[in-house]
Amino acid sequence: MLPFRPQPQSQTLSPLPPLFSRSCRQKRERNKIIQHDKCHLCDKKQTLNHLFVSFSDVRTFWQGFSRWWNVKNDDFIDLNDETTIYGFTNDFSQQFGLNLCLIIAKCYIYCASRNGENYYFEAFLAFL
Ligand SMILES: [Zn+2]
Repeated sequence: MLPFRPQPQSQTLSPLPPLFSRSCRQKRERNKIIQHDKCHLCDKKQTLNHLFVSFSDVRTFWQGFSRWWNVKNDDFIDLNDETTIYGFTNDFSQQFGLNLCLIIAKCYIYCASRNGENYYFEAFLAFL
């Protein structure tokens, strides 16, 4: 049994059955799949580079990340634009933990952006 009543071919205008179509719309609204072309914090055009690298608040976040990593691991990492976006690609197997933390940090930034929140390094630690 179908969850919708099939329409005769001549009356069907939508490619999706009405119930399915409504369900997708509800799902989109629930998941907030909405086009955001501006940064929620500074109103500049939202790009991958702006979100993860160039925005001043996110630069402050990455400074906190570097300090935290260096203290915890007795290490010195230099996060530049490329390593922030792509991770540390030299000797990947030795950088697995750092790259994992970078991915989680970017996930935190992305989620905070979608929720309209500021980026706080302490919130990332709780997220981690
Ligand atoms: Zn911005």
